[in-house]
Amino acid sequence: MKFDVIIIGGGLSGLTAGIALAEAGKDVALVSAGQSTLHFGGGSLDLLGYDEQGNEVKNPLDAISNLNGNHPYKKIEDVSRLAGVAKKVLERAGIATAGEANHNHWRVSPIGALLPTWLSLEGMATVEDAGTMPWKRVALVNVVNFLDFPTKFLAAGLRNRGVEVDVKAFTLPELEQLRKSPTEMRSTNIAKVIETNNLIAKIANEVNDIAGGYDMVLLPAVLGIGSSETSRHLLKAIKVPANYVATLPPSVPGVRMQTLLRKRFTALGGTFFTGDQVIEGNFEGDTLKGVKTAKLDGTTLEADNFVLATGSFMSRGLVADYNHVYEPALGVDVEDLGLDRNTWSKIDVTESQPYMEMGVKTDSCLRCQRAGNTIANLYAAGSILGGHNSIKRLDSAGVDMLTALQAVNNILK
Ligand SMILES: Cc1cc2nc3c(=O)[nH]c(=O)nc-3n(C[C@H](O)[C@H](O)[C@H](O)COP(=O)(O)OP(=O)(O)OC[C@H]3O[C@@H](n4cnc5c(N)ncnc54)[C@H](O)[C@@H]3O)c2cc1C
Repeated sequence: MKFDVIIIGGGLSGLTAGIALAEAGKDVALVSAGQSTLHFGGGSLDLLGYDEQGNEVKNPLDAISNLNGNHPYKKIEDVSRLAGVAKKVLERAGIATAGEANHNHWRVSPIGALLPTWLSLEGMATVEDAGTMPWKRVALVNVVNFLDFPTKFLAAGLRNRGVEVDVKAFTLPELEQLRKSPTEMRSTNIAKVIETNNLIAKIANEVNDIAGGYDMVLLPAVLGIGSSETSRHLLKAIKVPANYVATLPPSVPGVRMQTLLRKRFTALGGTFFTGDQVIEGNFEGDTLKGVKTAKLDGTTLEADNFVLATGSFMSRGLVADYNHVYEPALGVDVEDLGLDRNTWSKIDVTESQPYMEMGVKTDSCLRCQRAGNTIANLYAAGSILGGHNSIKRLDSAGVDMLTALQAVNNILK
């Protein structure tokens, strides 16, 4: 089977690249092994939250120009333009977001921290300025016995910023069914029960009964797996201003993003090989001719260009053994930290962890290398790239989407 481009990995970076290429009229196939880390995301997309000195960033575009030379943003020709393109890619997939690349706002994390971010999905709780809280009295309204919405942490975080917080909870007979098995009481299951049983009006009644006198109601983001319609309806039906806060994983807004991006990719004519894994590349000199997958026995998927977007350690885009870190699908070169494993991490977990900076080696056009040679038609995008610490910088989604779009531009040139 032959395509114009094959994308390996179906997370945020792979899907962004796939959609942008399909929008440009390319015949694209995407092979993806399993769930992506979007399922863990917080309902916001970060561009650059903290600079290299650890200071909060107000204007990511300004701060990006001061990053060190290894950061993946240094391989992006026009960060501002591509940030605008990224927002439009999401919009056309049905993912409405608020936010601008030159002006961070602050999202409320599942454990009550306020974090600088770039784009937030509609309905998510955000504030314009972390120094001036817009809410005086907040009701944190949980579903009874839902443990992945840590209200104690959330309340403490908001109270530390001078907000008066009351913790409340509601339940309905349909939700009580889930409580019979504690493992069922997860965000995605709650979303399914609410949507299947059409419980929005009932939930709005419950919340309205307890929401009087508050200037903000914060709810766990457990609505809208397939689209934001139900989550939007609930907020409209609540009589005071209300927003959602991301829960601990699985993240319903993250699953929704994954679903909508995938839908958009296939609607554009993209071919999705789901639940399959690239296990080998067929290289001829400095060109990748095709890839073999675990399930398509005997068939090579061929293309003119390839994008490697298999993620970092969590998604097995990178793998560590006792002696080295390697890229398992195509055997491309990895920027690691040498053989001494003791240098890979630090005992104090709050410190910047060196392994976070590991990633595949690329040239200035994001092309991978293999045994020291640049592969002319193999580009890397997303969290498989090294050169930055996404936890310390809060720059994950920006790196994923912008490197994907830059790789696409380089392919289309
Ligand atoms: C707990 C958590 C919370 C987060 N919250 C946020 C947030 O609030 N905001 C934010 O901006 N970012 C957040 N992130 C980071 C963000 O989710 C990731 O940076 C981003 O999703 C990575 O995208 P990716 O496409 O590069 O890789 P991944 O999402 O890891 O996707 C890679 C995909 O490739 C597949 N794959 C791997 N190997 C192969 C193979 N050989 N063949 C085929 N497929 C393969 C994997 O199965 C996976 O589906 C969070 C991450 C985590 C873990």
